[in-house]
Amino acid sequence: MAIVQRTLKTANLWASIAIASLAFLVGCAESEAPAEPTIPPNILVISMDTMGANHMACYGYSIPNTPFLGEFAESADLWENCYSTAPWTLPAHASMFTGLYPTQHGAHSFKVTREMRNVNPLPMDNTTLAEVVSEFGYQTAAFIANKHYLNGRFNVGQGFDTFHVFRSGDIARADLVNRKVKEWLEPERQQPFFLFINYMDTHRPYRSEEREGMFDFPVEQNSGQILNRLMPFVLTGKGDEHLDELKQLSAQYDTAIANLDEKLRELFAHLESKGLLENTLVILTSDHGEYLGEHDLLEHSKDVYQEALHVPLIVRHPGQTVGKRISSPTTVAMLPTIVFDHLPADMKSTAFSKIPRLDISKGFVAENYYSRSRDLFGREWGDRLNRVRHAFFADGWKYIHSSDGKHELYNLPEDPHELSNQIDHEPERAREMLALLEGHLVDPREANIEDLPEYTEEDLQIIDELGY
Ligand SMILES: [Zn+2]
Repeated sequence: MAIVQRTLKTANLWASIAIASLAFLVGCAESEAPAEPTIPPNILVISMDTMGANHMACYGYSIPNTPFLGEFAESADLWENCYSTAPWTLPAHASMFTGLYPTQHGAHSFKVTREMRNVNPLPMDNTTLAEVVSEFGYQTAAFIANKHYLNGRFNVGQGFDTFHVFRSGDIARADLVNRKVKEWLEPERQQPFFLFINYMDTHRPYRSEEREGMFDFPVEQNSGQILNRLMPFVLTGKGDEHLDELKQLSAQYDTAIANLDEKLRELFAHLESKGLLENTLVILTSDHGEYLGEHDLLEHSKDVYQEALHVPLIVRHPGQTVGKRISSPTTVAMLPTIVFDHLPADMKSTAFSKIPRLDISKGFVAENYYSRSRDLFGREWGDRLNRVRHAFFADGWKYIHSSDGKHELYNLPEDPHELSNQIDHEPERAREMLALLEGHLVDPREANIEDLPEYTEEDLQIIDELGY
């Protein structure tokens, strides 16, 4: 039985809604198709883990922390309203790789009745972007700094010839990641490549070495420790008593963004010098953002508000010289579609037969299944997070269906911080969006509790370090 059918407990409203009445919900979400390519381009996808669009200067943030990305976007498409499919790492990346929502690809957390690890790996029968382009002769490589949930045991390495997870020692920062990537790029190659890079500089503990002349605060404490200390206050609605520390966290996060931006400049200068950008599709995005006290939340996972879902998406087509800002909403699950649209015609049709083009013309989905297990048991805030939340985006509106009955509805252009819940004022719209949501969440996958990865002592240490 479908998870959604179980949790929504709502009559199927499809039949009762005339298609014509939905027209007002639907936004135009298409990008211009690129010119028909004749040779397959290189594909470079960069996932800046935990980089929220709301804290990026090139997305309108007040602190100039993304000088490189801003310059890069002058010759690229910057999608102003890209949302992740989930507020945390594994389900979001699995969506980037499969073009599916978490319910469909199955890599997400699930309900447990006692504290335990509650995360399902990506089922192996999913087809991934790397698998598809691999069949076309691409060399595929991933360099992964998020060492727990993007670890091979969660099956996100499907289709990569090289799958390098920086697992030992401290969290790998961009200097180390760049060094490895450059080594991999060194040999001359005849085939095109698909290179995926995951950076962790903006994930806790933030890479917040001070930047002279930029922020006037001392980085005295590890952000991971501040987050742990603040959690009991913020999650129980007492964040206001700790505004100075929240400000400190926010400044550390902003600094980490600036530090990563600088390292991206170095990487791209290298790619340029090797001539590797000429026929390369570049996609810069993130898996989720970060709560810094908004909605009484900290870090990520936990819930589906915009701070965690609004992510950057900057796409440079091969040969593109003029930048464009695109306001149509989109989702990270579009990634395979974006890539396949850049393939020569014969490859393109084969590729779309393996991972179908994602149609978001009637809206799209983000989801959160419960929270990390440690949040749910023996914590004052456990009940609050012990629920499934499905968000549906259409025509500027966001509907949140909640398994505890606390549904929400926001008009995002008017209320981007989701402060004014319209659920009681717009019941008809909520009903229509629920029907559309249900239509998207068919055929869900159940977690296979017998088949979870074993966790070693090292894993548990890493989980602590990353705050999961
Ligand atoms: Zn992440």
